[in-house]
Amino acid sequence: MTNDQCPMTNDEFRRYGYAVIDWIAKYLENVERYPVMSQVQPGDIRAQLPDRPPDDPEPFDQLLADVERVILPGITHWQSPNFFAYFPASSSGPSVLGDLLSSGLGIQGMLWLTSPACTELETHVLDWVAEMLGLPGKFKSDSAGGGVIQDSASSASLCALLAARERATGYETRRGGLAKHLVAYASEHAHSSIEKGMNIAGLGTDNLRKIPSDERFALRPDALQAAIEADLATGRTPCFVSAAVGTTSCGSIDPLVEIGEICRRFGLWMHVDAAMAGTAAICPEFRDIHRGLEAADSYCFNPHKWMFTNFDCDCFFVADRKALIQTLSILPEYLRNQATEAGSVIDYRDWQIPLGRRFRSLKLWFVIRSFGVRGIQERIRRHVAIAQQFAAWVVADPDFELAAPEALSLVCFRHRGGDAINQQIMDRLNQSGQLYLTHTRLCDKLTLRLAIGQTNTELRHVERAWQLIREASGSVA
Ligand SMILES: *Cc1c(COP(=O)(O)O)cnc(C)c1O
Repeated sequence: MTNDQCPMTNDEFRRYGYAVIDWIAKYLENVERYPVMSQVQPGDIRAQLPDRPPDDPEPFDQLLADVERVILPGITHWQSPNFFAYFPASSSGPSVLGDLLSSGLGIQGMLWLTSPACTELETHVLDWVAEMLGLPGKFKSDSAGGGVIQDSASSASLCALLAARERATGYETRRGGLAKHLVAYASEHAHSSIEKGMNIAGLGTDNLRKIPSDERFALRPDALQAAIEADLATGRTPCFVSAAVGTTSCGSIDPLVEIGEICRRFGLWMHVDAAMAGTAAICPEFRDIHRGLEAADSYCFNPHKWMFTNFDCDCFFVADRKALIQTLSILPEYLRNQATEAGSVIDYRDWQIPLGRRFRSLKLWFVIRSFGVRGIQERIRRHVAIAQQFAAWVVADPDFELAAPEALSLVCFRHRGGDAINQQIMDRLNQSGQLYLTHTRLCDKLTLRLAIGQTNTELRHVERAWQLIREASGSVA
């Protein structure tokens, strides 16, 4: 690529590159000033875009100006410390820069051969992560298992489900064998991606059994066992259980020890989805959430939720990498190479759905090295502590109640006055732009969720949130 062929010379790239970094730094400095949830109406953004693409080149300054003028109003500010909706998509400077370097290198890491560093850094960083979270040794690369970065927990769970399908059918379904009698299990509070995975894997959403939960919203092992036995009695083949550590709805934790025992007894693949909560295990005092993980065949969590690594980054670990590879590998002639044939390298294309892959471990590596394990631990502890403080304020207020047991940095709560007033609190606050909250339904009641985890959220933000919530409920003059 020579300069006279490219719309941007190297010198211009350098100049505008600095300008973009300056723009991002200023944006992040001022992020608290914007309405957290975008206030635009459907179609508002498109109405400002020209119908046709430009025939002639446009100056870069104009592009950046349009980002500010057209795009920014349509942004919901996930990096605002007042973002408490869904689960966070936390980020940090080192992560953004790692991602930028990944774009700058512009590699595609489908095979070890197509950039050895992309594969080897990923393997190594995932071993670090396994160590940091105190995961069972079988998930490390020096065992029969190993880790891989996926774009999302949805993809990780789908890969687990596919491997479970194949293991249960002697690796025949992938060739066209029938998977008709296979059934899978998850709690009624499991993430919707498990159901979507059943659809995509060809097992069918009707064959996902949603197992009732107990009063703490955790899967009931007795109900799981009864469902498996009922399926066996009608000639079906149970193959997969997805257990959640930290459900999206309310942060509940399924009993891994009991589920593991059932999976072992009936020969089912046990997958553990810890998308949000998994990061907490970096602190030894929270490692309890993973009690029983030794029995799992696979495990995933999202550094792009609570480990300050910007989307997308899910860490997926399997105990038996052969099962995964045997499920997903296809070797066309044009990808054949000596390193692969010799079996001496990892080709991560065989560990995921797409062929191509980004150099995602770079940003995770930058985050871990820049924060240090201790730096990550400190933020996690801070988030959990302020969630506990918020929960204490809820408990102390006669108008409000907690709706679920404490769940690390997620607090589920509601006004005692019923669904209408809770809806009003949420709508008022989200429309005010001062903070952003979302909801769930627990025990058939509208329940507000305060999900803490944005990198820079501090006690003062949550203190203000509580004040605003009380004002919006009308309980403060
Ligand atoms: C957020 C979440 C998911 C989905 O995560 P993606 O990475 O967006 O696919 C899955 N499971 C749980 C428990 C979650 O909280």
